[in-house]
Amino acid sequence: MTLALHGISVSRGIAIGRALVWGSASHDVPRMTVRATDIPREQGRFDAAVAEVLAELASLRKDLPADTPAEVDALLNLHALILQDPALSEQPKVLIAERKINAEWALIIQKENLVDQFEAIEDSYLRERNADIQQLVERVMKSLRGAQIVPIPDRTDENESWVLVAHDISPADMMQLRDRPVAAFVTDVGGATSHTAILARSLNIPAVVGVVHGSSMIRHGEMAVVDGKAGVALIDPDDIVLEEYRRKKALLALSRQRLQRLKDTETLTACGQRVELCANIELPEDVKQVVEVGADGIGLFRSEFLFMNRRDWPSEDEQYESYATVVRAMKGRMVTVRTLDLGADKTLQTDEEHAAPPPSTNTALGLRSIRFCLAEPTIFLTQLRAILRASLLGPVRILLPMISTAREIQQSINYIGMARQQLQLRGIAVEDPVPVGAMVEVPAAALCLPMLTSRLDFLSVGTNDLIQYVLAIDRVDASVAHMYDPLHPAVLRLLHDTIQAGKKADIPVSVCGEMAGDVKVTRLLLGMGLRCFSVHASQLLDVKEVVLKTTLPDIEKAVLRALKTHDPARIALVMKQISEA
Ligand code: PEP
Ligand code: MG
Repeated sequence: MTLALHGISVSRGIAIGRALVWGSASHDVPRMTVRATDIPREQGRFDAAVAEVLAELASLRKDLPADTPAEVDALLNLHALILQDPALSEQPKVLIAERKINAEWALIIQKENLVDQFEAIEDSYLRERNADIQQLVERVMKSLRGAQIVPIPDRTDENESWVLVAHDISPADMMQLRDRPVAAFVTDVGGATSHTAILARSLNIPAVVGVVHGSSMIRHGEMAVVDGKAGVALIDPDDIVLEEYRRKKALLALSRQRLQRLKDTETLTACGQRVELCANIELPEDVKQVVEVGADGIGLFRSEFLFMNRRDWPSEDEQYESYATVVRAMKGRMVTVRTLDLGADKTLQTDEEHAAPPPSTNTALGLRSIRFCLAEPTIFLTQLRAILRASLLGPVRILLPMISTAREIQQSINYIGMARQQLQLRGIAVEDPVPVGAMVEVPAAALCLPMLTSRLDFLSVGTNDLIQYVLAIDRVDASVAHMYDPLHPAVLRLLHDTIQAGKKADIPVSVCGEMAGDVKVTRLLLGMGLRCFSVHASQLLDVKEVVLKTTLPDIEKAVLRALKTHDPARIALVMKQISEA
């Protein structure tokens, strides 16, 4: 009988394979007291295990393929740093000596001590470092117990691969799996922003995380189907289910091939209206996929990802190289760099001497994003200089996040002027104006649009945050996720107002939140007058397909009806009508 296990969808796609349950070395750990004379031997075993894991991390870093996202190297480095911390590399040896116990037992005790300390921390990013510690302890434990790190056998047959099921998978493990026949990942823990999720997406492997007790419920060798989009793992599926998923998988592959043919097709609606399709990126490496799908530009470069998973701030030159890589790759197409948008779920790993957004009672409403940059002009100016320098290589725009007041706009524009002057003093003249725009993601901005349109060159609606703030729904809190409603009348009203305000002021407006990439709302947005979408590269051709099939006069009246009602049932009806038009 099919067992359906639900989790969090973090990487799309369908995979079918045999479950390879990767047991935890930290279970059934031998707990033994040792004689005083055996203490040096246990300490030596511990040192050797730590050294083996460090050597393994170093060798992984050395052999990373050229196309590996820079973030992977940073993650491996972070793990090496954590493992060298005396709390992990020395304290277990003290426990061995004090309590006269074997190395495995000492390691488990120290892990529990550290986990307790981390669990008391409120900051979600720091709490997530708890997972890094557990992953490292697991690797040291495996080494102590002589286990193979990633025991992936060869392909089961030419069509099937393995579905790796584990309590958790560390970034280092995941890199080792790169060239192995692993079709999907299923883990007991993790969230959409966990490292496992980030890497699964960058490796393009379907993954479902947060499948509570998955690794104890799934048996080794069982047939498994992973539907990454739906966030579900089907174990031991009936023949009918299996056949259905084989069909879905083949259809998905066909539809990807078919969509790829649209890459060079001009994006015009069926009635001839030109629509711009741009892409969102997190890291410079993502630009490869953007070029492959023929995007019109980069509508959102989330620059904060250059600042994450490291202990220091990236220098102006380092940032310049990142922006320059993207500008060069886009060959004359516009690159929109959003300035540092830190805070809430996007936090830093910095040393004490470096500034970082201070912990706030409510991180989504605290000193985040543009507020933090304006409070830390040195960091802001460094980034602005790097962006301005990159603008000498091709068209670049500056996008300011979380804008809520005219003062923030004016101060930001002043800093851009200051950065320009600083470059001039160094003999670097940035003469052409670099357009400056703002994210519309705080209700105050969406309700005072002339405040933005009178001062800025373009707008980009960040629906992820706009919905969070309009509906007061924390976008990372699973317990209220069902209330996160992009079709709420208040959200639709603000979206429509923003698009129309841009039209009136004759400045471009795009939508760059997740809504822009959701094909279910593409026609709704087109009907509201949106002519520029910025989406993840993997969604761009799906959106294009809908645009090509849309005749605007067929949907515009219905969309107006949706905007005039407060009744969710009528909005749902309009959604159905326009999808069938
Ligand atoms: C948004 O808020 O919609 C957005 C695009 O920005 P982020 O998801 O990075 O907050
Ligand atoms: Mg946002």
